[in-house]
Amino acid sequence: MIANTGLLEQLRATLRPYGAQLIAVSKTKSKEAILEVVATGQKAFGENYVQELLDKQALLPTEIEWHFIGHLQTNKVKYIAPFIHCIHSIDSQRLLVEIDKQAMKFGRIIPCLLQVHIAREETKFGLSFDEARAILDDPKTTLLKHVRIIGCMGMASNTDSAEIVRKEFRELKSFLDAVSISHPDMVELSMGMSSDYKLALEEGSTMIRIGSSIFGERSYSPVP
Ligand SMILES: *Cc1c(COP(=O)(O)O)cnc(C)c1O
Repeated sequence: MIANTGLLEQLRATLRPYGAQLIAVSKTKSKEAILEVVATGQKAFGENYVQELLDKQALLPTEIEWHFIGHLQTNKVKYIAPFIHCIHSIDSQRLLVEIDKQAMKFGRIIPCLLQVHIAREETKFGLSFDEARAILDDPKTTLLKHVRIIGCMGMASNTDSAEIVRKEFRELKSFLDAVSISHPDMVELSMGMSSDYKLALEEGSTMIRIGSSIFGERSYSPVP
């Protein structure tokens, strides 16, 4: 056994009362490990590099719903547009425009989440709250008929302080609640990973992205 399928059951039980969805983050993991997890009934998988996703998508069952969770370059959108289920990492309007253009070619509407920078670290990608709001309120965004912005994604600080992590998640939830008044499609909150998903659930997450707890620690991080 490559994946921790017992823990997967436990995770699902934890999520159930919250009605949240589990995204199994399979980056760097083998096709065999993914198939083990698919066999437990898991459909949603997350990847963060386009080439790796394409390699896996070509070989794995078509019923898998692939979520893109990493930084996405506009010139790579065309490769994933035919099949991607949801893109969690929108960090510019330019990217949305490109996704719209490519989705149109395939007669698709691609669900997208605005990635908001909530962590203290400076290195992580993402929009400020003001930038996210500006994208939502821009009439040019409203013209995009082949993307649907359904919520926000955020990564909390990498810290042992539950207090800081909780506060960051809470800020993202407040933002979502505020913008959803004028943008009723905004309902999803993608937040929480192996180390902080319990806090994320308590703070209103609807999609948690779990990698290492399911698949074990990653031995390397590929460079994009
Ligand atoms: C790798 C990754 C995860 C999963 O992280 P784990 O700590 O392994 O659960 C979640 N979200 C994003 C954006 C990631 O890149």
